[in-house]
Amino acid sequence: MARDGLDERGASSVIACRACRSRVCCTREHTPVTHRDVARVAAALAVAPELFCDAVPTSAEDPLGLDLGDGRRARAVLRRRDDGDGALACLFLLALDGGRRLCGLGELAPRRCGLFPVIGRGEVAADGLCWRPWRWEELAGDVDREALTALEADRAAFAAVVARWNAFAARRRRRLSLATALAFLLNEAAREAEAAP
Ligand code: SF4
Ligand code: SF4
Repeated sequence: MARDGLDERGASSVIACRACRSRVCCTREHTPVTHRDVARVAAALAVAPELFCDAVPTSAEDPLGLDLGDGRRARAVLRRRDDGDGALACLFLLALDGGRRLCGLGELAPRRCGLFPVIGRGEVAADGLCWRPWRWEELAGDVDREALTALEADRAAFAAVVARWNAFAARRRRRLSLATALAFLLNEAAREAEAAP
């Protein structure tokens, strides 16, 4: 019997996410992606990244914001679909019988998704993004430290990639498409993969 977002194994902390039937967190905000996320999903699905990525405006100071020219700066995020009545959900969120929802990407999902509601060391998702509030103290003991370190490494590498893109965009001095920026991210991920030992 479902209780809140949980199935009959309902429990607290990270176990709550493993047993979660609602996955409301996949409906309440855009999911940002790094160049590594984009490359992994594009390669596995064999589709162009613009088919599953979108751009949402961000501030000029955002270190992960891509300069798209004409004063536009945007975060690359997963696309969302309209589930009717204006309700939006991640493109990859699957709706199963009985109101159960599941991530269609599984292991391919952006690194951030695998750790959610942890969003960084000592940081948890804001209230309202889940059906319950979270505190770092209740998650700290369960969080996968290796995955957290990998998330931080991805973010640092992505910030460097974004800085390179933004330097390129500044030289071009014209409007640039998200597709062009995503192609740049794919190339950066490919270069990383080739350079890896
Ligand atoms: S963060 Fe909340 S809504 Fe998202 S999977 Fe975990 S328990 Fe479910
Ligand atoms: S990729 Fe999966 S876990 Fe991440 S937001 Fe989309 S449906 Fe949710």
